[in-house]
Amino acid sequence: MEYAGRMAASLPYVLITVGFYLHYHHLNKPYETFLNLSVGVFSIIIAWFLGKQFDKARYLLKVLAYNNTILLENECQLLQQQEQLELVIDNVNASIWHLDLSTNRVIVSKGTECLYGYSKKEFKQEPMLWKKVVHPDDKTIIESSEKELFEGNITSREYRIIQKDGETKWVRGIIKPLVDSSGEITNLIGMTIDINDQKITGESIKYLAYYDQLTDLPNRNYLFTCFCEKLEECKQQNLQLAILFMDLDSFKMVNDTMGYLAGDHFLQEVAKRLKSCVGEQDLLARLGGDEFIVLMNAADREQVELAVQRIQDVISSFILLKKEKIYSSISIGISLFPNDGEDIQQLLRKADQAMYSAKKQGKNNFQFYTTALDAVHQRKMDLEMGLRTAIEKNELFLQYQPQVELETGEIKGAEALLRWHHPKFGNVSPVEFISIAEESGVILHVGKWVLQTACKQIKRWQERGIFIKVSVNVSPLQFKDKQFVEILKQTLLENQLSPEFLAIEITESVMQNVKESSIILNELKKLGIKIAMDDFGTGYSSLSVLSRLPIDYVKIDRSFVKDVITNTTVATLVRTIINMGNNLNFQLIAEGIETKEQAAFIFKNGCRFGQGYYYSRPIPAEDLEALFHKQDPTIRII
Ligand code: C2E
Ligand code: MG
Ligand code: MG
Repeated sequence: MEYAGRMAASLPYVLITVGFYLHYHHLNKPYETFLNLSVGVFSIIIAWFLGKQFDKARYLLKVLAYNNTILLENECQLLQQQEQLELVIDNVNASIWHLDLSTNRVIVSKGTECLYGYSKKEFKQEPMLWKKVVHPDDKTIIESSEKELFEGNITSREYRIIQKDGETKWVRGIIKPLVDSSGEITNLIGMTIDINDQKITGESIKYLAYYDQLTDLPNRNYLFTCFCEKLEECKQQNLQLAILFMDLDSFKMVNDTMGYLAGDHFLQEVAKRLKSCVGEQDLLARLGGDEFIVLMNAADREQVELAVQRIQDVISSFILLKKEKIYSSISIGISLFPNDGEDIQQLLRKADQAMYSAKKQGKNNFQFYTTALDAVHQRKMDLEMGLRTAIEKNELFLQYQPQVELETGEIKGAEALLRWHHPKFGNVSPVEFISIAEESGVILHVGKWVLQTACKQIKRWQERGIFIKVSVNVSPLQFKDKQFVEILKQTLLENQLSPEFLAIEITESVMQNVKESSIILNELKKLGIKIAMDDFGTGYSSLSVLSRLPIDYVKIDRSFVKDVITNTTVATLVRTIINMGNNLNFQLIAEGIETKEQAAFIFKNGCRFGQGYYYSRPIPAEDLEALFHKQDPTIRII
């Protein structure tokens, strides 16, 4: 009976134990099951043997059961947390993975499937799949990361992967090695994040910051960054670096006469041609406008000269713009590191000075920097500064060169030529300062003053009985200026001047855009003023093109007249120009007549007017007045 009672008393504990067993069995936890079974059996034994101490045993069992309940609750919580964690991991917009290096077993999160396009199963089957899909160009990035990883460091790298559908994507992979107690790396856990959008935005920001969008060439920022690196490299390796500063000779004209769009095409074509001339190690950049820079690695003077030759050759062949052949040339200045300077600013400035000097030598030229150029540069700066205040300070004045009828030697007109008496440099030639005025834009202001002064003079002469036509040189920049026609109208009105006494001299460069120029010329024609094509023969326009425009006078350039007696080819050329010009009904003026022979040749061949030192140098207005009254018969040819 007692035995049965004891059995009965221990029954609840047996049931609890079986309950635990079933529970843990279900959870596949054999260790805990065994523990609870032992607890149950142990409680039966205690109940059996302690008899009277049954209550105590029951108490003990209660404690044990209580502990087991807590154990159970903790286990449940753990499982719950694990499930939650899995839920979180699967919902993270990234690939999270774990690789057991000893078994090569890989566990990946759901995000991995989205990122790579491969399923969890495919990853499990091929544990190294994540590495296989790395873009071939970025494999080295992964290799370098692995090296770090197996030194026990966390690595973080940006690289491209190729998704299952073949798309390329930028990702950032972060990997942590896990080590066991012996310090050996046993597992890797990692996270791969999609950074494609960010990277593309970043790349385009970088592109905007470092590349010129028009030509696709590196820009000023890129140049400066790269320049620093190159200088350091050259310093360390004792190498020479050549800096080529290049400036197109006629870009301003193209831009001004053909429009910005055509100017853009022009620059794109130039950039393309320049690219074909530089080596892989060299850097070609667009500094801005029509200025380009080449950094030539380890180049000696001979190599530089060869490169310069190549560049000038490719630029000098024509560029087709709006179906017209545009000829161009480029001036190049060169400075050398370490000879000419140690820092970027210095080297660039010196290459720029050399370029300016090359331009002054007649364009399509090149020049290495020499210390003598410092003075030239200083002069240019002084002139540029001085020009801004030259009018206010009364430093500018006009001289007039008579234009005569060759047959009679009578003065029929005069060309107004600008003069500048600089306080420091004395008389400065317009050949030097007009280009500076054009570069800085001051020409618009100066040109307006010239026009105003010349018109006042015409009026003054008329009041004194001298009725001659005065021609004024007009820069292409003025010609292109939207207010130009209005300025002319206004000036004529203010001076109450009849328009036929005023002529403007334009150069062939405005012919770069015949269509646009003809609109302006027709407006000028409507005003009633005369138009002369200056320096004919030096540019690329033909008389037949000019015949379509309302041009009255064609001035045969001085360079032809100079050789007309001594060079038979030139003589033939001049004869042809005169014949054609007459046939096209232009009035012809020969420039730069210095001798009686030249005058005779020109006249004999049918040119009606002439201008040159033979008749008179450019002189002050009062002197021309005196000359006009004298009308020296000795200057007649026949
Ligand atoms: P240009 O319009 O062709 O002017 C003729 C130039 O030839 C003048 O030089 C004149 O002094 C020079 N010349 C005339 N006859 C002879 C000669 O027989 N022999 C030689 N060797 N030279 C002769 P200048 O005055 O030095 O002007 C040079 C250029 O500067 C002008 O060439 C013109 O393009 C430009 N220029 C002068 N004044 C102005 C101006 O007011 N505005 C603009 N935009 N340009 C001007
Ligand atoms: Mg002229
Ligand atoms: Mg001329």
